[in-house]
This record gives sequence, structure tokens and C-alpha cells, in this order.
Amino acid sequence: MQNKPISTLMIPGPVEISPEVAKSFAEPIASHVSPKIIEAHGSALEGMRKVWLAGADSQPFVIAGSGTIAMEMAATNTLEPGDTAVVMNSGYFGDRMAKMLVRRGVLVHSVFADEIGGHPSLEKLADILKNHNIRAVFGTHVDTSTGVRLDAQKVAKLAKDAGALSIFDGVCATAGEVFRMEDWEADVYFTASQKALALPPGLALMVVSKSALKRRRGMEVLPPLSLDWLEWLPIMEAYEGRKGSYFSTPPTHLISALNISLSQVLERGIEQVFEDHQSAADLVRAALADMGLTLVPKPGLAANTLSAVYYGDRPQIVQQLKSKGVIIAGGLHPEIKDQYFRIGHMGYSVRDGEDMDRLLSILSGI
Ligand code: PMP
Repeated sequence: MQNKPISTLMIPGPVEISPEVAKSFAEPIASHVSPKIIEAHGSALEGMRKVWLAGADSQPFVIAGSGTIAMEMAATNTLEPGDTAVVMNSGYFGDRMAKMLVRRGVLVHSVFADEIGGHPSLEKLADILKNHNIRAVFGTHVDTSTGVRLDAQKVAKLAKDAGALSIFDGVCATAGEVFRMEDWEADVYFTASQKALALPPGLALMVVSKSALKRRRGMEVLPPLSLDWLEWLPIMEAYEGRKGSYFSTPPTHLISALNISLSQVLERGIEQVFEDHQSAADLVRAALADMGLTLVPKPGLAANTLSAVYYGDRPQIVQQLKSKGVIIAGGLHPEIKDQYFRIGHMGYSVRDGEDMDRLLSILSGI
């Protein structure tokens, strides 16, 4: 079995995983209602509340799936056909969210930035909230296609003041970017396992407020059965109470690994982990500036979990890094796809430091 990676994966997800997480996948298979899995599942749910900085009355959900499944779960458990919602669009994943909502029969107001790399206008959001009966406001905490970080705290406040739910896509942010679910009174914050939680892909994760669950209880046009919070709720409650339960077979190895990863984050301390991501982002940005390169996000908007960077006079940078053992990604935003590249700096790579050192030393030498 290969232990040592031949290259370092620094795309914006999936990212490197810790040796402890990797090792857990070699454990023997266990029943989803075995004491071992019950404990891991229950403990992971408790850990999520802490990493999300969510209130004791919030409800975590862990299901098999991708980030897109988490988006679908959030959308279909809060909105019915005929509802109206806002999407704060800062890139590709805002487009996806809007598309998903339209399929659900929701009337969508999309708020865009003036230009790629900008922040969607908070004034426009306030205006729409004032003039329409908005049920929910969606925002991508970090859009992986532009590297822009949304001001989630302000968006949550504007939504709350208008009586709308606030729902954030934290797929490229959770456990990397500061997010205080309880303090900011956000209603849904979802992610996927392959980003800053540093696990293989395969889990859709979210924490949901009491108000959001209440909204689901009042719905008449139900979500798809497999994504329904109310089908999953008794399962999550059972596991948290350290009892086995069944609705749809959980991905047991991934759930054990999730528990390990959350413990590692909490051992370091979530505030420290936020700082780790800030420092890593500062270092990468300084190296890129030294190379004369320009970021896609406008000043002050760049996320800490990834850097989206125009090629400038370095059109070969993705291949250059690859030849030195670090894998980074090309562009994703359809309008500028061929003009920029992306480096993921999140999760274990950032907490551990070795991968960051490798990246920085290569950047300084090319
Ligand atoms: N939202 C954001 C911000 C993402 O970065 C991604 C994945 N890159 C997704 C949603 C979708 O996640 P997945 O690819 O796991 O479906």
C-alpha cells in the first residue's frame, strides 16, 4: 500500500487528508448500528455544532452526498413552488443555486456584483427585501469560482431583519472561514466533506436553525424523500442519543473519518483554525504579489481558503507546479475560465504546515 503521496493536492477541493483520517479507511467494516459507528456518528453531530459555532437548539444533519446534494437539501426543505427568494451571486455556485431554485418553482431575484471578483450589492439586497415578500436569502460564503468571500454576517442580518431565512453555502468555507452561526443568527450553513474538513468527498453536512426546521414543518409541497429533514431528524436524534437507527444506510467509514477530522479541528481550536487559514492565505498572497500576479477578487474580498489568480505572464504555472509535485487547478468561472488559476489552501494542509511550506518554496523559486 502506498503511504507517501507522490504529489500534494492543492486544488480547491478535494484536498489533502490527515494520516489519521487516511488510516481510518483501512478499519474493518462495521454495521451502521454497531456501538463503534453509533459513537462516531453521535460524536460527529456534537462536533459539528461546535465547529459551526451553532446554538444548542440547532440541528446538525450528516447524509451521504456531495455539496450539490447539500444545496438541494437546503433549497427543498425551505422553499415551495411559488415562494420568492434572493440569491447573492458571487460566481458559478450562485448560478447553480438559482438554477436549482427555479426548478423548484421558486421566483428568484439574483443580486450580482458589478464585475467578476466583486461583492453582490448589499444595498440591492436591502431594497429587494423591502419591496418583496422574500422567504429566504441564499449566499455562497466563498465562491470557489471567483475566490470571493461574502459578508455572511451582514447578509444574515439583513435577512433576519426582513423576516427571511438566511442560507449559506459553506462548501468552500466551513471550518476555514470565520462563521458564527449562533451569533449571526444564520439559519442554514452547509458544506461537503472534501474541503476544509479535509475528508474524501462523499458527505453532505449541514446545521439548521429552529426557524428553518419550523419552516419545513409548515410546508405542503414536500422535498424529495431522501433529502427530507423530517425523515432524517429522528435518525440524527437517535445517533446523538447514542442509539442506532435506520432510514437510509449511512456511509459508515466516512462518518468515522468525519468524527476524527472534527476532533482534530476542535483539538486545535476552531478560532485557531480560522487564524491558520488567515495566515496561510496571507503567505500565499504575498508570494503571488512578489511574482507580480493579480487576484480575481477585488481588494478586501479574497477568501482565506483559496486564491483565484490571473495568469499574467505565467501561463504555464499549473504545469510548472505539477512538475514539482503540487497540483493546483485551472479556472472555473465560464467568463474568465482560461484567464486564471486557483490554489486551494485549506484543511489539513493549512493546519499541518508541511504542504504550505512546499507550495511557498516552489512559488518563490519559479
Ligand atoms: N458550492 C461550492 C461553493 C463549491 O465549491 C462546490 C464544489 N466545488 C459545490 C457547491 C458543489 O459541491 P460538489 O462538487 O461536492 O457537489
